Order: sequence, then structure tokens, then C-alpha cells
Amino acid sequence: MRELKGKKYDIVLLYSGGLDSILAGVILARQGLKVLAVKFIHPFGKGVWQPQEKFYSSPHGFDIYEVPLGQDYLEVIKNPRHGYGSNANPCLDCKIYFMKKAKEIAEQVGARGLATGEVLGQRPFSQRRSAMRLIEKEAGVEGKVVRPLCAKLLPPSQLETEGTVDREKLYAIRGRGRKIQMKLAEEFGIKDYPPPAGGCLLTDPGYARRFFDAREHGELDLEMTQLLKIGRHFRINGHKLIVGRNQHENELLEKFFNQWWILLEPKDIKGPSALLIIEADQETIELGAKIIARYCRTEEPISVEAKFPEGKTLTLEASPLPPEEVEKWTI
Ligand code: SF4
Repeated sequence: MRELKGKKYDIVLLYSGGLDSILAGVILARQGLKVLAVKFIHPFGKGVWQPQEKFYSSPHGFDIYEVPLGQDYLEVIKNPRHGYGSNANPCLDCKIYFMKKAKEIAEQVGARGLATGEVLGQRPFSQRRSAMRLIEKEAGVEGKVVRPLCAKLLPPSQLETEGTVDREKLYAIRGRGRKIQMKLAEEFGIKDYPPPAGGCLLTDPGYARRFFDAREHGELDLEMTQLLKIGRHFRINGHKLIVGRNQHENELLEKFFNQWWILLEPKDIKGPSALLIIEADQETIELGAKIIARYCRTEEPISVEAKFPEGKTLTLEASPLPPEEVEKWTI
């Protein structure tokens, strides 16, 4: 938390970058409060994960601090005390973790409390009143969180009772609609905000399937969280195979080639690159080559080169595996 050295704030806001959290920041900043918006950069966002600490000012009147999350966050996601939602999203545990982290930051910058952009009843589970209470309790911040968008539907937080935040200038927004938020954005002159979320891959059924498979096989580390975003995934003879779907993914897979993987590439014909976990035996490497051949748009046998991390290579002749066989191994 180098970037925060010597800085002081009134409130730390849990910030996603979406409209609701922008509004929460603006509502508090308009009350003359110094707001630090903390954005957690977790590995399950779409696109390439860039875990770097950043600090900058937003055009909306508050500062933004981007905090990368790593191994200890992943441990929480792998073993959530409160279980998973409809996919691989353990939202309660995740939010408790965020809240605890935000509390640490609040202590560092001398803030009197925390804020979120939550709206009561917007999400089926984690934005219910009982869930909010549980999250606060387990994070050790009971009564210390103000939710400017729905505060008037909740008992006053400490920040309101002590007069740090003027409750009269907070809102009573409930439910999934976005009309009121869009009207408020217009009123506050907020023009560029992202479309409604969908930013967490743990809520995506395809990603969730691969996530649970990797978890079950003890493969779920930070690198794997990124690989699960790329390519077609197979479990062949108990071993993980990832096959690129286009040039971009082939190049990404090549970048991930390290001591844990065998890189498979078709020779003399265009086709996908693939990573096969290093423990794979000869029979599995041959099966992987046949799966690659299936995606080379030929019915003829092809040559596939297997590159091992220590520099050794092996050339295999592989006939395309029938589609129903490929299907059988797909995760
Ligand atoms: S959707 Fe993802 S990031 Fe958001 S609370 Fe749930 S698990 Fe955490």
C-alpha cells in the first residue's frame, strides 16, 4: 500500500467501476467528504489480468486505488465457508474478503467508515438485508458501512448517526431496475459509465465448469485462473489439455508454456497450439495430438510436434479423433 503513504480520507468506498459505485462515490463527495474508492483487481475479470497497484483521481471527485488480489484471495474462492452461488461464485465469502481488505485500508488512511454502491434486492442473494448484515459482522465492520443508494431502506449506519454522512441526502433505491440510477447519473452529469456488470467469470457457467474441474484435480493456482479463460479444455486420461481456438489464443498458450506444460503444435499444416500438463504419459500425448488433428480441418493424418520444457522435442503422427470421441473428453 505504498501509494497511500501519508494520505487521509473520510470514507473508503468499495468500488467496481460500475454506475452504482460511481454514484455512491459522487453522492458522498457532494457532501464534502474525501472518498477513497478501492477497486480490487481479482483474477476472474474478463480479459488479461494485470495485477498492478495503481492510484489516480477519477473525474467524479474522488480518488481511485486499484489493489491487486492474489493467493490469499484465491484460497477463499477455492474453499468458501458459505458455499457457491449458482456457478463458481462464492459471493458472500468474496464480499467478506473485500470488506476486510477495505477495513485495513480504511485504518491506514484514517477513514471513519466504509461505503458500497449496493442496492437492496438487486442481486438475488448477496444484496439481501440479512446477507449485508452477515458480511458486515464477519468482516468486523458492523454498523460502519453506509450504502448511499439504499441507505433510507436500512437502519442508519454509524457514519449517519454520528453526522459524518447526512442521511437526508441519501437514497432509497430497491430492486434490479436501473431507471433511478440513470436519472441520477444525468442529474450529476455522469456520462461515461460501463453497461451493467457481468464482469466476474465465476458467474459464467462455462468458466465455472472448468474451475471446478481444476479445483477437483488440485490444479487451481493463479496461473490456472487465467488459462481457464483461454481455449477449449479437455481432461484426457485424467490430464489437462488446453487447445487454442484462434491465432490470438495460440499465441497466449505459447506464452504460458513453462516447466508445467508440454506444448503441442501441428507441423506443416495450420492448426491450434495446445498445452498438455507435464505429467502426461506417451499414450496421453498421442491422444492430445489426435485431438489437435481434429481441429486442423483435414481427415488425413498430420504431424504434431511435442515440445518439452527442457528443450526436448518429439514428432508424432496423428489421425483426427472422431468428433464424438473429442466430445467425450471435453470439460
Ligand atoms: S460476482 Fe464475483 S467478484 Fe462479485 S462478489 Fe460474486 S464472486 Fe465476488
